[in-house]
Amino acid sequence: MSGVLRHEPDDVVHVPDQPTSTAASTVASTVASSVPGRAEVLIEVRGLSVDYGLGDDAVHAVVGADLELRRGEVLGLAGESGSGKSTLAYAITRLLRPPGIITAGTARFGESVNLLSAGQRELRGLRWNEIAVVLQSSMNALNPVLSIGAQFSDVLRAHRPGMSRAQRRARSGELLEMVGIPADRLGSYPHELSGGMRQRVMIASALALDPSVVILDEPTTALDVVTQREILSELMALRDRLGFAVLFISHDLSLLAEIADSIAVMYAGRLVERASAAAIYRAPRHPYSLGLLSSFPALHGPRRALEGIPGSPPDLRQVPAGCTFHPRCGYAFGRCRSDPPPLLELDGGTRAAACWLQDGTVPVPPELGRHAPAAGLADGGRS
Ligand code: SF4
Repeated sequence: MSGVLRHEPDDVVHVPDQPTSTAASTVASTVASSVPGRAEVLIEVRGLSVDYGLGDDAVHAVVGADLELRRGEVLGLAGESGSGKSTLAYAITRLLRPPGIITAGTARFGESVNLLSAGQRELRGLRWNEIAVVLQSSMNALNPVLSIGAQFSDVLRAHRPGMSRAQRRARSGELLEMVGIPADRLGSYPHELSGGMRQRVMIASALALDPSVVILDEPTTALDVVTQREILSELMALRDRLGFAVLFISHDLSLLAEIADSIAVMYAGRLVERASAAAIYRAPRHPYSLGLLSSFPALHGPRRALEGIPGSPPDLRQVPAGCTFHPRCGYAFGRCRSDPPPLLELDGGTRAAACWLQDGTVPVPPELGRHAPAAGLADGGRS
């Protein structure tokens, strides 16, 4: 894999397959039931870099990102606000607005489509048909003066011109029911629906043309936790039934640990860790991933103080030298302040982390070792 150094210490010990805690078991069963193995790669991103602005004032929002999304996979993209995760998604779907500029890298859909050089006609053919996007505030993007049925019908008329009016009506009802809303609400206007229902409508709309990839950018963040959980359960059931792949963007690493097959963690525009969801949940290898996991309370086990991550993300116009995380990292040592760590492949290439603690030259703290449970989460996280 480009940009990745291989590191396979002699004493490689693989992350065990079966977590022991209740919450971790939930993660394991999710992963076990849905990991697509070596399914075909639908989206392949290599060395992608995105700036906002030009010259010395340019904000380096994404730097050299590598990602793969396979058919049927749920890939979680985690990080704090400003870590570059949404920018990465906008770049590969060509939804990036000025002053955003793709400065390097490639992004492919399937074997033949270069997403970064595709013309508008080719992009129109891909969007919604093959790659659908649901944004955090998209529930507010519904047209307030058109009924839900009319808005579905518009989509179907534009992209499936051969469908009759009756077929469009039937498909619209089917889409609503798919997300748990009775078909008789097709005549409702957006203001007659709750926030959760409007977001369900947007998800149904994204699935209208049976896309193979759905990109969800914090799709439930604005909703209460009960509605959030219901929508996520429905979404995962739909993924199991329809087989689309999901790129799920969230700041909530513990939520991603539950729903994703694999997770990529971003910090200051860089990918800092990538592994299966179960592996990151049970044994994060990058201090930033550990910090994100430690920022959420456990629902079981002894009470503990929430640790969080000290400080705040850096100004992307002037990131710190060396490891960009070093001013906030409790494990930083000399080399961290001068040399940027590459993404090191670990455990026989099953995961990768950009941290000098993992290059085999210094002792690894137990909590960042191969079998370490995430602090405070070993005996139960979100459920
Ligand atoms: Fe912390 Fe150093 Fe690892 Fe960066 S490279 S995460 S500063 S220990």
